[in-house]
Amino acid sequence: MKARIAVLAGDGVGREIVPEAVKVLKAVAARYGHSFEFVAGDVGGHAIDKVGVPLPQETLSIAKQSDAVLLGAVGGPKWEGLEYSLRPERALLGLREQLGLYANLRPAKLYPMLADASTLRRDVIERIDMLVIRELTGGIYFGKPKGIEKMPGGGERGFNTEVYTTEEIRRIAVVAFEAARKRRKKVTSVDKANVLESSELWRRVVTEVQKDYADVALSHIYVDNCAMQLVRNPRQFDVLLCNNIFGDILSDEAAMLTGSIGMLPSASIGAKVGLFEPIHGSAPDIAGKNIANPIATIASAAMMLSYAFRLEKEAEAIEQAILKTLEQGLRTKDIHAEGMRLVGTTEMGDAIVRNLAS
Ligand code: NAD
Repeated sequence: MKARIAVLAGDGVGREIVPEAVKVLKAVAARYGHSFEFVAGDVGGHAIDKVGVPLPQETLSIAKQSDAVLLGAVGGPKWEGLEYSLRPERALLGLREQLGLYANLRPAKLYPMLADASTLRRDVIERIDMLVIRELTGGIYFGKPKGIEKMPGGGERGFNTEVYTTEEIRRIAVVAFEAARKRRKKVTSVDKANVLESSELWRRVVTEVQKDYADVALSHIYVDNCAMQLVRNPRQFDVLLCNNIFGDILSDEAAMLTGSIGMLPSASIGAKVGLFEPIHGSAPDIAGKNIANPIATIASAAMMLSYAFRLEKEAEAIEQAILKTLEQGLRTKDIHAEGMRLVGTTEMGDAIVRNLAS
């Protein structure tokens, strides 16, 4: 197949890890006979330094005219003094909004050889492999009315509105059931239907959508119980379907089960162009030293192949190459342990490319 990929490396370690993922995508193209065109764009602090804004119009056009976007990370101390609307991180909100990215997908999978990096006991986390799907553009973060107002008798009142429409729930539920079909065919929908009306509607619509997915099992769980079950018995989950705020919190909890932030990819998808990025930030403390872990970004490229291009075999090949490289004992500093071979960012990328070809 032919595809055009926007490459937005951004700032800090983004500039080191994104080239490694591009290297891997090029190797996939060569091995499986695809043609990927890579178009680079400036984003974040780098774009501010060049043209004064974090998300230049040209970058947005590149993203919109592509089949998928690969993003590194944005931000860093250099730009922290800027006013909020000009901060590098604004570029992320702009991209989400402009590309209509309403679903965020975060897998939390444990690589068995890294089990000791987790704060939980090995027997609890072994073989966990779940996907948290978070609704990204609705709910209490965007609902109106919202604000802080003075009260007549003194003091103030702060308020937000949790609101979801049938259509918003339907489309995110479809993403969850479709994703489950590629996995173990089990969706657990998270809500607080015992207290919240918006959750009552959420549960009703998700149940309705499931009728089109008879091959996928659906269960419902209250968010408080879910937070508990994630640390008690995380293996029970396959796809966790969450609204915006529950997903925000639970996806971080799920991510941390697996230990290292440098290993975790994500995908944000919408009506058209999807965006694929590691869950970590620009890691200014280690930038420019060739020590950042590129695996989260390489795994994000694998998600791109699966979710944007439906190239399942190729995505699986990347996953297997990552696994094999870890099995061979190669480790970047963040996941290094005694007896393992310490490698830099580029060396890790090269090894994954080699294992992909073998
Ligand atoms: P961070 O994720 O950048 O770093 C947290 C810690 O994890 C640091 O110690 C870092 O060295 C380590 N780390 C992160 N990625 C790593 C990797 N690939 N390999 C090895 N170690 C890694 O979070 P932070 O320090 O809170 O934020 C730094 C900057 O990144 C800030 O400007 C923040 O706003 C920005 N940020 C951007 C995004 C994004 O672009 N999506 C996300 C989060 C934070």
